[in-house]
Amino acid sequence: MAQILIRNADRVVTMDGARRELAGASILIEGGAIAAIGPGLTAPGAEVIDASGCVVTPGLVNTHHHLYQSLTRAVPGGQDALLFGWLKTLYPIWARYRPEDMQISTQLGLGELALSGCTMSSDHLYLYPNGSRLDDTIHAARALGLRFHATRGAMSIGESKGGLPPDSLVEDEAAILDDCIRVVDAFHDPSPQAMTRVGLAPCSPFSVSRELMRDAALLARDKGVMLHTHLAENVEDIAYSLSQFGCRPGQYAEELGWTGADVWHAHCVKLDPSEISLFAHTRTGVAHCPCSNCRLGSGIAPVRAMRDAGVKVGLGVDGSASNDAGDLIGEARQAMLLQRVANGADAMSAREALEIATLGGASVLGRAAELGSLEPGKRADIAIWDLRALQVAGSWDPVAALVLCGPHRVRHLLVEGRQIVRDGQLVTLDERALAESARRATARLMA
Ligand SMILES: [Zn+2]
Repeated sequence: MAQILIRNADRVVTMDGARRELAGASILIEGGAIAAIGPGLTAPGAEVIDASGCVVTPGLVNTHHHLYQSLTRAVPGGQDALLFGWLKTLYPIWARYRPEDMQISTQLGLGELALSGCTMSSDHLYLYPNGSRLDDTIHAARALGLRFHATRGAMSIGESKGGLPPDSLVEDEAAILDDCIRVVDAFHDPSPQAMTRVGLAPCSPFSVSRELMRDAALLARDKGVMLHTHLAENVEDIAYSLSQFGCRPGQYAEELGWTGADVWHAHCVKLDPSEISLFAHTRTGVAHCPCSNCRLGSGIAPVRAMRDAGVKVGLGVDGSASNDAGDLIGEARQAMLLQRVANGADAMSAREALEIATLGGASVLGRAAELGSLEPGKRADIAIWDLRALQVAGSWDPVAALVLCGPHRVRHLLVEGRQIVRDGQLVTLDERALAESARRATARLMA
């Protein structure tokens, strides 16, 4: 069995139960899993990755993204709009996407995430123009080699029925459920070492019917897959829920089966104390997207209160139309800074932000048993950060420095023991060629 030895790291941040940080430690990988961690490990014949001068962390986990949006960054009409106006600017552009745009955009977004330390990403694809399918994104993720939790999103209420999206971008609800069954059966892998999982994810309570929300929850439980959507993102979202459903988003979710350990909601900026308590006792997860919340002016999510109540929280960069970057370690920094703006300088430490970015994300995606920490028996999803980078030179605490200073680009990244980034470059794809095909695709969408 092929072995890899990550040797002699300055610091290994394990995120194990005791949150141990090991100086001068090595990690032995066998068959895609961690076989041993500690000082002085040897493995004759193993491939060696020299980690001297580096901090080693669990791979970061991204719990919310719309990878297809990577081709619509910094769109002029969407730069300064609130959520609903922003969506109305972008829908007509997204309606022009073809399957190859989905594929290029997915690889662009995942490549960018990999370089910022991410080993597993979820994705929320909720529109399927011109023959696009969830399959396009799954094949693209497989070629890159990141662990991927695709979700089959959907919109069914178009403009003519009082919804936000144009009618051309919405689907018939029976067809949505049929395709959910198709993609789960074709791609979902329930095994602990799964590289691909599939979840069900109607876009938001304001873009599908109550019946589809309920039916998706029933189908997900029948198939044993997770549920994901947007919830309580901003004040407009709360106002819509109160006027259309006569209740707050948390209550709406609870009534339709959208709480539980197999559910995670993006944003939750406006959850009130009773909703936080509901999420805590039902083990419902939250994808916190700090940069997107800043970019759209949505507010500061009550992450301190959620964590104190026991809510599972992970990080999400969100789609590149509302971030416009996909820098996951940068997102950890932003999460920490926002809690400090809201609650004071001791509200969140750099180490807690790193925990949310790793173990927190793995818990939200239902993978904490096999991912999110570096321990024997866990899968070998590992980020290696070079402390000799300029951004981090002069720091006194190498672990806190990862969040407080940088670097924002990994030196090496391994997923399931396979090297995806080597010496700061993607291994599986040519970064320049990918950027060039994204540039060409974007030019086509602008035309
Ligand atoms: Zn989103």
